[in-house]
Amino acid sequence: MPASNHAPARDHGIDAAPDALAVLHAVFGLSGFRGAQEQIVRHVTDGGNCLVLMPTGGGKSLCYQLPSLLREGCGIVVSPLIALMRDQVAGLTEAGVKAAALNSTLSFDEANSVEQRLIAGDLDLLYVAPERLLTPRCLSLLDRAKIALFAIDEAHCVSQWGHDFRPEYIGLSVIAERFAEVPRIALTATADELTRKEITARLGLADAPQFVASFDRPNIKYEIVDKQNAQTQLKAFIRERHAGDAGIVYCLSRAKVEDTAETLNRAGIPALPYHAGLDAAVRARHQDRFLNEDGLVIVATIAFGMGIDKPDVRFVAHLDLPKSIEAYYQETGRAGRDGKPSSAWMAYGLSDIVQQRRMIEESAGADSFKRVSIGKLDALVGLAETTGCRRSRLLGYFGETFAEGKCGNCDNCLSPPLVRDGKVVAQKLLSCVYRIGQRFGAMHLIDVLIGRLNARVKQFGHDRLSVFGIGRELNEKQWRAVLRQLVAMGHLQADSEAFGALKLTESARAVLKGKTVVMLREQTSGRDRPSRTKSKRSDPAPQPASRGTAVDANLLGALRAWRSEVARKRGVPAYVVLHDSTIEGIAASHPSTPEQLRDIPGIGDKKLERYGRELIALVNSADD
Ligand code: ADP
Ligand code: ZN
Repeated sequence: MPASNHAPARDHGIDAAPDALAVLHAVFGLSGFRGAQEQIVRHVTDGGNCLVLMPTGGGKSLCYQLPSLLREGCGIVVSPLIALMRDQVAGLTEAGVKAAALNSTLSFDEANSVEQRLIAGDLDLLYVAPERLLTPRCLSLLDRAKIALFAIDEAHCVSQWGHDFRPEYIGLSVIAERFAEVPRIALTATADELTRKEITARLGLADAPQFVASFDRPNIKYEIVDKQNAQTQLKAFIRERHAGDAGIVYCLSRAKVEDTAETLNRAGIPALPYHAGLDAAVRARHQDRFLNEDGLVIVATIAFGMGIDKPDVRFVAHLDLPKSIEAYYQETGRAGRDGKPSSAWMAYGLSDIVQQRRMIEESAGADSFKRVSIGKLDALVGLAETTGCRRSRLLGYFGETFAEGKCGNCDNCLSPPLVRDGKVVAQKLLSCVYRIGQRFGAMHLIDVLIGRLNARVKQFGHDRLSVFGIGRELNEKQWRAVLRQLVAMGHLQADSEAFGALKLTESARAVLKGKTVVMLREQTSGRDRPSRTKSKRSDPAPQPASRGTAVDANLLGALRAWRSEVARKRGVPAYVVLHDSTIEGIAASHPSTPEQLRDIPGIGDKKLERYGRELIALVNSADD
């Protein structure tokens, strides 16, 4: 018998387990649980509360969907985004589950009929927007219904320090108070300590166990490059590494979103803009096209992405620095949910730090809030400047130690940067900052260092300073890299209120006196380091489906075309009909009987019934 000491609280799991497996197989077409899913499903099915921390793509949905099916009554899922609800409901309905959603897109009559179904016990799962749930009407409706559990998805939205704070989430504490007997499961992919504490406090989970999965996404390759001309770099990145792939490009401003989308389109890379300034209908259309069509790039502000379930996003590119490691991790996490090799690529420069700092300082928040925000930004800059493994650094931020210390699938592991003693270089730069009065930005500083006798330098008499031209051994690009690293190390600050004027910090003194060791990443004077795309180590991802057999490309094409047609007719995204991994499984193993087809992950009873004949016919005609 398996050890059951891990299961907290009441453990009647021996009975629940076989049922859970049977439902997993029949409804979802899956043959086994992943990681902690089984423990969680048992715990919640037995009536326990818990907090689940799992990375994007880790399989959170099953943790509440299965217990909802196994327990009496309907599972209520609080979910902040309508697009996500719609896709989940479509996917569940496809699998034969009685699922519905209550949100602002429904007409009065539609909402009414969903409510009737809930009261009549005709629903297994009901997705509800938080603000809706909090209305007296909805709460009294829930009083009258039989409820299996409450699942609070994207639970980090409750955190005021977080990047996705939603005031209505605060109100969700009513669930614990009003429905104390009903099990609660809170789920999130954001898991720093502060957020975790806020979730447990606000959702009444102080005594509940926490299930924390590894946050590693081994199939994502992390890469952060020195920003030169971001759009040109982006085009090269897509052409060389991700031609024809679906991807998301994040920019900070609407104007930059529009401009970047246009640039990509002109370069023959099909791209659509997405930002809050676009008409709601246009936005919805662009999102739908991105979800449903193959190989589109969406260029977006952060308004886009939360609740995007698309499994085959092959890359996420950042042209601007996000606010924090949490935001970076969540945004990059939208790549490769299907477990296949994917890229997280970011171009970043000193101006990004200045810009983000300015946004924090100009924000309306309290000083304590600003301090936390600056701390979070600094942590991200540290990640961008690290010479070590990015994955180790990322996981370390979330409190996880990465055993090997080197992942073999990030830029720094694949081509380790040269690191040198940068004492003298750092001293030159810092003393130059001092000599020019801590009133000038990067450009002027570098002009003085390398001895450029331009009008501005003359105007301020900086050509007469002893530091004029003391840095001729490095070129402009190299000085920029040194500067950025000194800012990241905290020896210098770019004052966002004074147009990025550089100022020494307390710690700069020790560097100037030679008491602090400064190790700097060597910047070659030429191009970026060569990008090694398809490195031999870039295949660490779990690759289910293909079973060692080669995928039949013709059959795969036929299956894709069939799927697009079905998706179009049914008005759902293609992956709701069948996942990529499922059609690849079919193209690899050529099932010719319903039993063989049923063995492919992702084919449950309902899908077999609905599509079995057509799929087998497709396989047979490909085999002729
Ligand atoms: P999350 O909500 O954590 O981002 P999902 O619940 O959407 O992740 O699951 C991500 C993907 O993993 C989905 O395609 C899902 O079908 C798949 N998946 C989840 N659990 C399992 C499992 N036990 N076996 C195989 N695939 C799974
Ligand atoms: Zn690494």
